[in-house]
Amino acid sequence: MQTIEVQTSEHSQAVDITRRVAEVVAASGVREGWCEVFVPHTTAAVAINEAADPAVMTDVLETLDRLVPWRGPYRHTEGNAAAHVKSVLTGSTVRVPVQGGRLALGTWQGIFFMEYDGPRRRRVVVDVHSG
Ligand code: ZN
Repeated sequence: MQTIEVQTSEHSQAVDITRRVAEVVAASGVREGWCEVFVPHTTAAVAINEAADPAVMTDVLETLDRLVPWRGPYRHTEGNAAAHVKSVLTGSTVRVPVQGGRLALGTWQGIFFMEYDGPRRRRVVVDVHSG
């Protein structure tokens, strides 16, 4: 198991971590199996989607902003309830097949760290399994 550190720079941001996850897979020596990526935070998440056109993840972030406005009404008094809701909607784990020692992502897919209450220093846990 390896931990990747991610320093986000925006309040809401999709950070492409595909290359860093791929480095953990390569270093693990696992040829066939799967890779689990886990975000241990309550106001961030992990998602797989298009990495070719950056406008796609901007659309995702802007759509989430419309669905889950920053200003409530919310009960959570810390002021970041929207970030918690977005984290639940997006999820804290993704799992990617490993084939031939590489992430078996689709042609257009990338793995994104999803920041919803930044900027902050964050962690991502990457676990590679053979099987
Ligand atoms: Zn909170």
